[in-house]
Amino acid sequence: MALMGRMMSAPLLISTLLTHAERHAGETEIVSKRVEGDLHRSNWREVALRSRQAAQAFARLGCQPGDRVGTLAWNGHRHVEIYYGTSGSGLVCHTINPRLFPEQIVWIAGDAEDRVLCFDETFLPLVEKIAPLLKTVQHFVLMTSRAHMPAQTAIPNLLCFDDLLAAEDGDYAWPLFDENTASSICYTSGTTGNPKGAVYSHRSTVLHAYAAALPDAMDCSSRDVILPVVPMFHVNAWGLPYSAALVGFKLVLPGPHLDGKSLYELFEGEKVTFSAGVPTVWLGLLNYVKANGLKFSTFKRTVIGGAACPPAMMKSLQQDYGIEVIHAWGMTEMSPLGTLSKLTTRQLSLPADAQQRLLEKQGRVIYGVDMAIIDDDGRSLPWDGVSSGNLVVRGHWVISQYFKNDASPLVSVDGEPGWFPTGDVATIDADGFMQITDRSKDVIKSGGEWISSIDLENIAMAHPAVFEAAVIAARHPKWDERPLLVVVKKPDVTVTREELLSFYEGRIAKWQVPDDVVFVTEIPHTATGKIQKLKLRDQLKDHRLPTA
Ligand code: ADP
Repeated sequence: MALMGRMMSAPLLISTLLTHAERHAGETEIVSKRVEGDLHRSNWREVALRSRQAAQAFARLGCQPGDRVGTLAWNGHRHVEIYYGTSGSGLVCHTINPRLFPEQIVWIAGDAEDRVLCFDETFLPLVEKIAPLLKTVQHFVLMTSRAHMPAQTAIPNLLCFDDLLAAEDGDYAWPLFDENTASSICYTSGTTGNPKGAVYSHRSTVLHAYAAALPDAMDCSSRDVILPVVPMFHVNAWGLPYSAALVGFKLVLPGPHLDGKSLYELFEGEKVTFSAGVPTVWLGLLNYVKANGLKFSTFKRTVIGGAACPPAMMKSLQQDYGIEVIHAWGMTEMSPLGTLSKLTTRQLSLPADAQQRLLEKQGRVIYGVDMAIIDDDGRSLPWDGVSSGNLVVRGHWVISQYFKNDASPLVSVDGEPGWFPTGDVATIDADGFMQITDRSKDVIKSGGEWISSIDLENIAMAHPAVFEAAVIAARHPKWDERPLLVVVKKPDVTVTREELLSFYEGRIAKWQVPDDVVFVTEIPHTATGKIQKLKLRDQLKDHRLPTA
């Protein structure tokens, strides 16, 4: 008979993170640039109290354990209070991406059966329009104070969040329940078909919060001041609101103010040391800082992920501003963290350019996630840095099933079941550094060979005249598909198609060089700020390659 450990066991509940922060980092600030325009200062003690009041308020509205509470909101203290108030009390926090089309929002809120919808003032016109279509929603809550409530609105019985909280005493004990209970739901963007819900549990969220804070992951310390640019509706701001409580760091929340100037002022004013976001947000901030000859005085590290970080952007942050860039990969189905690019001791003695190449990869897994690359028959491929295959993962914070779908999305690796197929194509080197070559649906299949659209975009982004670049597959009668480069130029510069194409010479094999360039004024982005390749392909579907 096995000898059992004699250790205490307590469920890993999200409420315990908040209780810890309240007790041990009570005075640590949570600063929010609000929709109302003010800079609001709070701390973990106050946010913990208001989260308990929120839990009481949701119960008073009739919410029962397991009920979903939807949010359409920016990063701000009220959103944090809803995160903890819902999950902590056994409700399920459902963050909805407000940048989706109204029909998609209606579909998602209906699929999740949201019972309450909390939203920022920015989204009042949107919610007024869709409210009659939100059949499951019984209460609409505007996340503001009494003074900012609209005099008139089409929404019947619109409730005021601050009023709801003020009516409660906060004398509330967080309930104990099974750590595998659902805590929150986030829908994938659904580039094909309807969005799918990833249902996180308390256990998965707390374990992810631990892992994310580790030095070789996001390296979060109580001495840090962290500004998540990544929205709280994009995979829970990559778990930062949870790691924040776990570690007790100061949290700076930018609300809707995401332009370069506003962000820069907040970074400087609040002495931000660390940030996280998708590559496109740094385009705006870097542009502003460059154009105005500014420097950062406290900003030291940033995680960039959600899409491949162009090496040129990484270099500019590192060399021009002394900011360490941690390239990270993950997805909604992974809560989201999978890998981060942090060098090992041995790698730190490699020549600088070899180190740089490693940093440009998506990196190593954190403990808690396991990965493999497989061929189309489910056979695992070697970790040689060359063989590329379908990337699969498993781990404590990887989904096993989608919401309301009993079919298993999992696949087998060498006959062993239980792996989640990410839809990404990658290589892994002998040190376990993973590099995404493409999403399987974005890879360019040219005459039986695969061309990485990411590699081609990264080269274009290094050209001084290029503001943003995307590479998509264009139909070709002989090769099936050939790469087409789509470029947004920087303002006030001229560059020709030929100049851009010759820029590829010596940087990549000749047969991989794009066949053509299209200049556009704007590249479409998804609701999470990534290049929307499907739409771009559709926009350019009639483009005839000169080689065709
Ligand atoms: P969606 O983009 O569909 O909203 P996610 O935010 O979950 O959903 O996106 C996950 C996908 O984003 C990954 O499967 C991968 O294709 C891409 N991705 C995330 N991080 C990176 C990265 N660092 N480099 C390249 N691709 C990335």
